[in-house]
Amino acid sequence: MNILNDLELYQQLIIISILSLMIGSFFSLLTYRINKDQGFIFTRSKCPSCNKALRFYNLIPLFSWILQFGKCSNCKSKISIRYPLIELAFLLFFHISFFSLGQIIDYKLILIFIIASILIYMCIIDLEHYYIPDLSQYLLISVITIFIIMQTGEINITNNLLSGFCYLGFGLGLWLFFYYGASMEAIGIDDLKFFFIAGFALTLNSFLLFMLLSGISGLIFGSLWQFLKKDESFPFAPSICFSLYICLIIDNKFNMIDEIGKLLF
Ligand SMILES: [Zn+2]
Repeated sequence: MNILNDLELYQQLIIISILSLMIGSFFSLLTYRINKDQGFIFTRSKCPSCNKALRFYNLIPLFSWILQFGKCSNCKSKISIRYPLIELAFLLFFHISFFSLGQIIDYKLILIFIIASILIYMCIIDLEHYYIPDLSQYLLISVITIFIIMQTGEINITNNLLSGFCYLGFGLGLWLFFYYGASMEAIGIDDLKFFFIAGFALTLNSFLLFMLLSGISGLIFGSLWQFLKKDESFPFAPSICFSLYICLIIDNKFNMIDEIGKLLF
C-alpha cells in the first residue's frame, strides 16, 4: 500500500516538475520578448549573438543551460542566467504549492499554479523594467475571485473591497515610510494597485501577517538591492508577491492574532 502511494507521489512530482519547467521556459521567453520588436512566442528561438536557430536539445528547460555550461553551443557566447533562474522559480513554487495544499492535484492547485505564474511574471517585469503591467493585475484579481468563490462557495464583495482599502492604506503608509523615512523610492502607483488586490484576495484575516511579511521582506530586499545595484529606487512587487503567496497558501492554517493571543495569555 505504501509503495503504491509512494509511486503515485513520484508520478505526481514528475508531472509537476515537467509542467513547471515548461511553463517557466515559456515565461522566460515571453518576458524577454515582451518589450522587444521580435515576433511573439511562436517564432523559433535563436541565439542573440550568432543568430543560429536553436535545436530541440538546446531548448530543454534548465538542463540545456546546465549541460552547455551557460554558453551557446555554436558560438560559445554566454546565455543569461535569467532563463534557468526563472525556470527554477517555477519549479520551486509549483512544488511548494503542491506540498502545502495537501499533495492533491485538483482545481484548487491548478488555480494556485495560475496565481503563482502571474505573480512570478509580475516580479520579473518589475525587477527588469520597474513596472507592473496592468493586464497582469486584472488577470490576477479575476483568478483570485474565482479561487475565493470555488473555495467558499460565495463571495462577500463588501468585505473584500473594505479589506482592499485597508491594505491600500497600509501601502500608502509604507510609501511614506520609505520615501520620507529612508529616502528610498520603493512604492509606485502600480504597487498601490497591487496592495489593493492583495487586500481583496486575503481579507482582513491575513492583514497582520501580510503587513509583517511585506514590511520585513521589503526592507531586506530593498537594502540588498541598494547595496548590489547602488540604486535609490527598488522594485517592491517581489515583496508583495511573496507575502501574498505565503498568506494564500497557509490561509486558515495559521491565524496570527490567535497565535499572538496564545503567546500572551
Ligand atoms: Zn550563439
